[in-house]
Amino acid sequence: MQRPDTQKKRDYYEVLGVGKSASEEEVKKAYRSLAKKYHPDLNRGDEKQAAEKFKEISEAYEVLMDKNKRAQYDRFGHDGLSQSFGQNGFSMRDFTHMDDLSDIFGGFGGIEDILGSFFGSSQGFRTRKQKNSFSPQKGRSIEISLKLHLSEMNSEIKKTINLSRHETCDECRGAGFKDKSDKQTCSDCQGSGYVKKSVNTMFGRMVSTTTCGKCGGSGFEIKNPCSKCRGEGLLSVSSKIEISLPAGVIPEEGPYVLRGEGNAGRSGGGRGDLIINIYEIPDDIFLRSGRNILCRFPVSFDILATGGKIKVPTVEGDVMMSVPPSTQTGHVFRLKNKGLPYPKKNQKGDQLVEVLSWTPGNLSKKAKELIKELGPEISKDTPPPSRKLFNID
Ligand SMILES: [Zn+2]
Ligand SMILES: [Zn+2]
Repeated sequence: MQRPDTQKKRDYYEVLGVGKSASEEEVKKAYRSLAKKYHPDLNRGDEKQAAEKFKEISEAYEVLMDKNKRAQYDRFGHDGLSQSFGQNGFSMRDFTHMDDLSDIFGGFGGIEDILGSFFGSSQGFRTRKQKNSFSPQKGRSIEISLKLHLSEMNSEIKKTINLSRHETCDECRGAGFKDKSDKQTCSDCQGSGYVKKSVNTMFGRMVSTTTCGKCGGSGFEIKNPCSKCRGEGLLSVSSKIEISLPAGVIPEEGPYVLRGEGNAGRSGGGRGDLIINIYEIPDDIFLRSGRNILCRFPVSFDILATGGKIKVPTVEGDVMMSVPPSTQTGHVFRLKNKGLPYPKKNQKGDQLVEVLSWTPGNLSKKAKELIKELGPEISKDTPPPSRKLFNID
């Protein structure tokens, strides 16, 4: 029987055109030459296909350069890897080798532009200019961390958390002052927001225009700031917030964002977001890979040889699994839909169970005798050594 593997995706080694035993250096070299080949500037009119290729080789590179991911891939195939590498989930976030790419594309222009052209945006690389204090400003987002166990990821999460966040001052309704007459035209800039300064330079006296320091460019000054918020318009309030996350939220897909649950904004600028960074508490039994769950199961030789049933733990409790006669050690069984759910979808990952023959220790005298007697009877079929055995290659 073949190991479970996704048919659609191409083999990573094949994608990069390297052998299974390729060194890091060889993988890097192959990647570099392919990345150059599929650069969008060199594929005008064919950008879409080039972008697909680029994603494919980048994904292969990410996996083969990461010792853990590579080992997992060698062992379990594409199923052994995070689903975030899937067709739709692969994003800029997955580019953890920015430095390598900058290197390659050094002569072509910024890496952000290139990735932006592939993924349709380069947001996040530009910072917005600070506006003056009277124009609407969105509240700042709040980041928190949430540690979850596998069993928690498996179901919907509802938690109450304590947060200190900015709320609009109830005394001045966020204005920073109570009475209209408290807001006056700035005396330094007469409301323009700018002041002219003459400076001595090596070319003589020059006049430069700068933002007014007194009013910060708003053109207004506050005579009697609100005493409750000291003119900020915002107060720090500790609040209990109910957060709810759908089942199947996993760390590598990025933080879970609750829109509008962050700090209140200024002057009607809207609330920021609550950004929840998910961390995983390692499990004693399972290894998670995207929404698949991997499990190594030691099985006594007699069951592997003659067949039988074993009780396998899953995130939802034990299930009985049949092991057919003559099952080889290292065989991977797939328990359909026993993995984690996809949020808001009627779909689940699988559990992959790798059965491994367990050699017993402390044999009794009787057991030793029986095994010795059995030996010649069952060792006749033992094949000669080959790298094809056990699907290691
Ligand atoms: Zn106030
Ligand atoms: Zn001013």
